[in-house]
Amino acid sequence: MKAALWYGAKDIRVENIPEPTVKDDGVKIKVKWCGICGSDLHEYTMGPIFIPVKTPHPITGETAPVVMGHEFSGEVVEVGRNVTNVKPGDRVVVEPLIVCGECPACKAGHYNLCEKLGFHGLMGGGGGFSEYTTFPARFVHKIPDNLSYEKAALVEPMSVGYHSLEVGHFEKGQTAIVTGAGPIGLATIECLKALGAAQVIVVQRKSVRQEYAKQSGADVVLDPNEVDVVAEIKKRTGGVGADVAFETTGSEQCFHLALGALRFSGTLVVTSIWEKPVTLDPNVLVMGEKYVVGSICYCNDFPKVIEMLADGSIPAKGYITKKVYIDDIAKEGFDTLTGPEKKSQVKIIVTPDKSLM
Ligand SMILES: [Zn+2]
Ligand SMILES: [Zn+2]
Repeated sequence: MKAALWYGAKDIRVENIPEPTVKDDGVKIKVKWCGICGSDLHEYTMGPIFIPVKTPHPITGETAPVVMGHEFSGEVVEVGRNVTNVKPGDRVVVEPLIVCGECPACKAGHYNLCEKLGFHGLMGGGGGFSEYTTFPARFVHKIPDNLSYEKAALVEPMSVGYHSLEVGHFEKGQTAIVTGAGPIGLATIECLKALGAAQVIVVQRKSVRQEYAKQSGADVVLDPNEVDVVAEIKKRTGGVGADVAFETTGSEQCFHLALGALRFSGTLVVTSIWEKPVTLDPNVLVMGEKYVVGSICYCNDFPKVIEMLADGSIPAKGYITKKVYIDDIAKEGFDTLTGPEKKSQVKIIVTPDKSLM
């Protein structure tokens, strides 16, 4: 079967590899669509970051080359003898986490915080940029007929946004700040609107992403180069500040803006991954009893996000900006998302099935 494998930075090859075989608790899936994620791009531009190269991944036992892709939808074609939650013919998405099931976090039910956390499509064991892949049934979720395979490929990134709302204890009627309107920022905006935010204020420098933010439901978009963001947010919230903020950029400037524009007892949720540390004056937290908390992946969030995408409460209109056939994944997918037109792209989805193009 065809699959796209990571060999090294700037080196992704589409090759013929053997089809995977299904284990007793596993499900074999014929992939329909798979999104290219920011973490895939990091591996492409400056990897390896998570991809095991010298030391095999502790759970999959594999090293590069590995099949990439973790944001996918597909059809079940075979199940292992112990599988009862899905059957051949079912339309599904996969929660692509590789977890040990034995560490304290796993035992406490926080499987996204597993000590050995890995991703299907980065750490070996297959991935979504291939014709078929297999995965433990526990993480395979059925999708309803009214959710297209294309939109279903967005369940994973939308769940990252949804989980961050849960971590931040977001409540209907609150005012929220989202810094950054890339794929995760937009997913966060979509979820905030779906769950009844009174006002979503987005911080994003001038680019087409400001338009995407509005399309996703932002009530106002502020450019930190043009306005005093903290003063403007205070003005829009009766002088108090926002209830909750979501940092999706990994920039120190946005971290401080979000924290500064929060109300007393407000919460800053950090969803971004950081390349450098930030300097923090803890008095900012002390003098307002503010909270800062991190959010990673998702944990029991897929069923709700599937429902909200299917019933249209998360419209995700314009979120898919391009569709690519697997043979063209390097040039039309990865190079587009890392080249000069990267800002105009949100999500590029890839299919190994030419009949879907
Ligand atoms: Zn992802
Ligand atoms: Zn674990």
